[in-house]
Amino acid sequence: MPRPIKWRRVDFVPQITFFKPAGIPLHALEEVRLSVEEAEAIRLKDLEGLEQEECAQKMNISRPTFHRVLESARKKLADALLNGKAIRIEGGNFEMAMRRFRCVKRGHEWDVPFEDMLTGPPPTCPKCQSPDIQPSPGFGMKRGVNKASGSIDDKSASHVEHKSGELTLQSRCSSSN
Ligand SMILES: [Zn+2]
Repeated sequence: MPRPIKWRRVDFVPQITFFKPAGIPLHALEEVRLSVEEAEAIRLKDLEGLEQEECAQKMNISRPTFHRVLESARKKLADALLNGKAIRIEGGNFEMAMRRFRCVKRGHEWDVPFEDMLTGPPPTCPKCQSPDIQPSPGFGMKRGVNKASGSIDDKSASHVEHKSGELTLQSRCSSSN
C-alpha cells in the first residue's frame, strides 16, 4: 500500500534558490539539492533558533521526522560547503501558510499564499475588483503569532507542489454569503 504523502508546513520559500562556488565552471560543478522543507528546517532551527519541538509543531510533523529533515539538510549544506558543490533549493512536499483577505463592501473572502505576501498584500478583491480590502481578522497566520499552539487551522493552508523551480498553487476564492 502506498504511503500517503506527508505535507510539511512551511511559511517561507527562499527567493534565491541557487548558490554556486566562485571560480568553478558550471559544467564541472556538482550540485546538492535541498528540498524546500529542508530549507525551512534550517531556517527554523538554525536561523530563528527555535527548539526542535517547536520547529516540528510549526511544520506540522513529528519531532523525529523534523530531526531527520534537519539532519539531512545540514549534511547537504556541509557537503556543498566543504566539497565545493552548488546548492539548489527545490522540490519537496510542503504546504504554504495562507493569509485570508476580505473585501469590505461585499464580504468576499480569499486566501493569499504567504509567499505572495512577501511582495505585498493583494491590491484588489479578485471577485469584484474592489480596492477596499483588509486581512480577515482572527484568521490565517502571522509569523511569530500562534507560537503557543504551534498549529493553524487546516483551512488556512493550501497544498503547494514545488517541482523544478516552478510553483503551482491551489488558491481558493470563496464568498461568504
Ligand atoms: Zn469583493
